[in-house]
Amino acid sequence: MNEILRQLPKIQTLMESDKAASLIDVFGRTQVTETVRAKIDSARSELLADAPMPESILSERLFWTEVSTTLDQSRTRSLKSAINATGIIIHTNLGRSPLAEEAVQAMADIANAYSTLELNLENGKRGSRHSHVESLICELTGAEAALVVNNCAGAILTVLSALANKKEVIASRGELVEIGGSFRMPDVIAQSGAALKEVGTTNKTHPQDYSDAISENTALLLKSHTSNYSIAGFSSAPTRQDLAAIANQHNLPLVEDLGSGVLVELAPYGLPNEPVVKDVIAAGVDVVTFSGDKLLGGPQAGIIAGRKPLIDRISRHPMARAVRVDKLSLAALIATLELYREPNNPLDRIPVLRSLSEPIDLIRARAEKLSNMCESVPHLETKIVPTKAQAGGGSLPLQDLPSFALALTLPGVSPDQMSERLRGASPPIIGRISKDQFLLDVKAISDRDLDALSNALQHALTG
Ligand SMILES: *Cc1c(COP(=O)(O)O)cnc(C)c1O
Repeated sequence: MNEILRQLPKIQTLMESDKAASLIDVFGRTQVTETVRAKIDSARSELLADAPMPESILSERLFWTEVSTTLDQSRTRSLKSAINATGIIIHTNLGRSPLAEEAVQAMADIANAYSTLELNLENGKRGSRHSHVESLICELTGAEAALVVNNCAGAILTVLSALANKKEVIASRGELVEIGGSFRMPDVIAQSGAALKEVGTTNKTHPQDYSDAISENTALLLKSHTSNYSIAGFSSAPTRQDLAAIANQHNLPLVEDLGSGVLVELAPYGLPNEPVVKDVIAAGVDVVTFSGDKLLGGPQAGIIAGRKPLIDRISRHPMARAVRVDKLSLAALIATLELYREPNNPLDRIPVLRSLSEPIDLIRARAEKLSNMCESVPHLETKIVPTKAQAGGGSLPLQDLPSFALALTLPGVSPDQMSERLRGASPPIIGRISKDQFLLDVKAISDRDLDALSNALQHALTG
């Protein structure tokens, strides 16, 4: 056995070869040595298990090809851009909102330089990072004051920690939402140190249920957006105005978690009932929380807006510091919010709003264009089919948006195999399977993506 093991090449000799030297130039000595050693080790294990000498040891060329492939793979990033052909515009697994050009530029400007993040240029003293965005949020929402944190989950946790610790939060049983990533409203309330007092039933909660539950231990009334479900049929919930009146009467704040906050009316584009932040504040809600990267179309962020004395208390809480927004997200958020200001039309400039509001004939035209581009792929058959796309990201779960998709078929390739091959494309193409058909829904694809998409598709499906 020792005799056979001695036939294995020496690591030191391998590392002195020209091939090793060229790989060291690219990957560094440590990584190349480790990869070579791992290959030799694995060959040794095979020999000890009485297997014949592996092919890759017998052929020096094969050995280095394999080492080089392993090294290449170790360098490919798993976080990369992808094409969203799922028909879900705000897809958490695909990074939610793509940013507007202006937001990307604003991030770049701040990223490679120092900035005035926490500097007051007038007096040269320490400033607040929130000062750059507060007035913009107030202008767009009608709020008196505002604060931005890392995400909406962090926003709710911060609001409740600051306003309700060791006290009670009254919330309707019909609104105790669980959103993706194990974020459950009752758990967040518990985490903030507050006690949840549930009122009403799953399907019906009346204004009286809230009034009856109020005691000297009550810190606030909480309303939450039931982002990903809907209670229909024999159901009712108090209006915001009802709740605001009750809260006001007892001198308690009314807090609303809007999840996907929208700043413009979306009813004309198929998303009725999605409450506009300005209207929510006008209805008398004292503090609202909403996400930056859902229907707002900006970076990951959690926005807290409302009455000044409450926002002041929230900003001073240590939790606000722990989940503070970073400068790149802040820069992108400011640039995104600016696109909501007149005379800009946010529906033209913000990618998620553009996708949401795009007229159906343009969507169809894109499907046709993509279908033509696919003609160059041998044996690939495409058919344009009508689909129901979705906004996603916890905005009106039951609302279907009309769209079109390309149904792809390749002889001998199942929909699952098609899906796997396109996930392996560069960039990855993420479609969906519906009724045993593999679909590329064009709702969330931009015209700009079409060349990259058809190239990637062609590469992945030929050869
Ligand atoms: C999405 C959502 C959140 C969490 O927002 P993130 O920005 O993802 O942290 C909280 N509440 C509701 C109702 C939501 O829909």
